[in-house]
Amino acid sequence: MDLAQLASRLRSGRLFHSYIVTGAGQQLRDEAAMLIAQAGVCTGQHPLCGVCRDCRKAQEGIHPDISHLRPEKGAKEITVDAMRAVRAAASVMPNQGARSVYIVHQADAMNTGAQNAMLKVFEEPPEHALFVLAAENPEKLLPTVRSRCQVIYLTPASQDAAVTGSHEADALLEALLSGNPLDIAKASVPLEKMNRIELSQLLADVRRQLIIKADSVPSSKLTRLADALNKADRYLDANVSPGHVSGFIMAEAMGLDDN
Ligand SMILES: [Zn+2]
Repeated sequence: MDLAQLASRLRSGRLFHSYIVTGAGQQLRDEAAMLIAQAGVCTGQHPLCGVCRDCRKAQEGIHPDISHLRPEKGAKEITVDAMRAVRAAASVMPNQGARSVYIVHQADAMNTGAQNAMLKVFEEPPEHALFVLAAENPEKLLPTVRSRCQVIYLTPASQDAAVTGSHEADALLEALLSGNPLDIAKASVPLEKMNRIELSQLLADVRRQLIIKADSVPSSKLTRLADALNKADRYLDANVSPGHVSGFIMAEAMGLDDN
């Protein structure tokens, strides 16, 4: 979904305690995380009303109940200590907004200890707390963490006009995971005829299906295929031809079972 679709979903439905925001680039993920945070603190009549004091402060980036967590400067990981601090803070009531919101940027940088600490919060979430995990690679999160979050998969607005059927993505993913060279080769034929936007949209759909099915895919396969799809996306961005990119994916899929 794009940001506009996310906003309308936030306005119409109830809010969850925890979200994973993934897909698209970091800037779009951060914007989506801020939108969810705003919906979380909003004290207007409808969530994300846009006019209450809390919405305005959230938009200006100065809301006292919205906290940001990311790896410390120079560090690669988010540590268990940082997450314990969040846990302690989350038990305190918000200052003025409807909820306290914690945005974890680069949530896939949480080490296992930090993720376990996060899990403890998720198991008994304080009623007034909301967590948003922005992650490029949500498959690096523990399945137990993922399963407690609503996954928001973002696509840039311009791509949404050409949404590929999820059936096509499903079939492609199944072939890629099969390890069967013939199935993989067959599945890659239509890819070579696609233009850049069609292929990039299809790969985004495959990526989304992969996250949905993450729990039933062996983790080594999961990580390698997700890496390959990320690389393919970067190649497309860098103007590598769709034919070459689909060839690359095919080769990676055939090597998934190797060590
Ligand atoms: Zn509001």
